[in-house]
Amino acid sequence: MSITVEHLQKTYGEQQALNNVSFSIKKGEIVGFLGPNGAGKSTMMKILTTYINATSGNASVSGFDVRDHANDVKKIVGYLPEHNPLYLDMYVREYLEFNANVYGISKQRISEVIQLTGLSPESHKKIEQLSKGYRQRVGLANALLHDPEVLILDEPTTGLDPIQLIEIRQLISKVGKEKTIFLSTHIMQEVEAMCDRVIIIKKGEIVADKNLDDLRTQNEQTIIVEFDFRVEDAFLKKLPHVKAVKNTYGFVYEISFSTQEDMRSSVFDFAHNNELKILQMNLKNTSLESLFLQLTS
Ligand code: ADP
Ligand code: MG
Repeated sequence: MSITVEHLQKTYGEQQALNNVSFSIKKGEIVGFLGPNGAGKSTMMKILTTYINATSGNASVSGFDVRDHANDVKKIVGYLPEHNPLYLDMYVREYLEFNANVYGISKQRISEVIQLTGLSPESHKKIEQLSKGYRQRVGLANALLHDPEVLILDEPTTGLDPIQLIEIRQLISKVGKEKTIFLSTHIMQEVEAMCDRVIIIKKGEIVADKNLDDLRTQNEQTIIVEFDFRVEDAFLKKLPHVKAVKNTYGFVYEISFSTQEDMRSSVFDFAHNNELKILQMNLKNTSLESLFLQLTS
């Protein structure tokens, strides 16, 4: 196991931030830690990265206990904190070199990481000149310097604009091919975009722990389709397994089905047989959305 957490509790004075939390993460998994603000996500991550101690319970990373073997854990883990502390008047490469020196990391590795995180064109700029998206890349580059097995990323996409968001997601997915990643977010779509598995936390307690594939294969799906022409709702209701049809705007329809089968090809055949053209079509995973709303509202 890459990460093991057993009956973890954390209290800050009177405030209970984590209550009897247990889970484990296998090597190579990308796991989303999803929950609203104040749920206990950052607290969990600070414990796993050895920055704070739990009140009780155990946690280990690659078999090393976070309390008793903090130095071993730090060697294995790359951490991007929520409020990523950067030295704004340092240059990108200078900042990475500064951190690399602390760990005795080679100049070649710094160049590799700059390349990997797409920072090459920005590496001669001062950090204060960078956009939020590029600052996050610097944080990620920093977390990757010592080539850790496990990456712990605390809300890595919060505050990014839509384009930066897509770029950082792609970068995380790329890096995740070789590493175990535990990332927190309060946005459900982030989990869908990047993760194999979701652990949902609410008020310090784990309320769900599911593989995304299992959620995807639950009997709920919505297809959003745009035709080139108007279609009667009643006509669309002839599709197999249809639960509901809604004309959202123009010639766009939201069709929900109760089946495990991917209904996109049926919608395609339906359009073809009725001489309609499909201008766009998307499959929405309604089960994750409804699960999250149910569990956190
Ligand atoms: P999240 O990252 O999910 O937003 P946090 O782990 O930051 O949640 O916080 C969990 C709870 O613990 C919140 O109620 C928060 O106010 C409280 N908390 C976090 N850090 C401290 C602290 N240093 N002192 C007191 N309370 C804290
Ligand atoms: Mg937080």
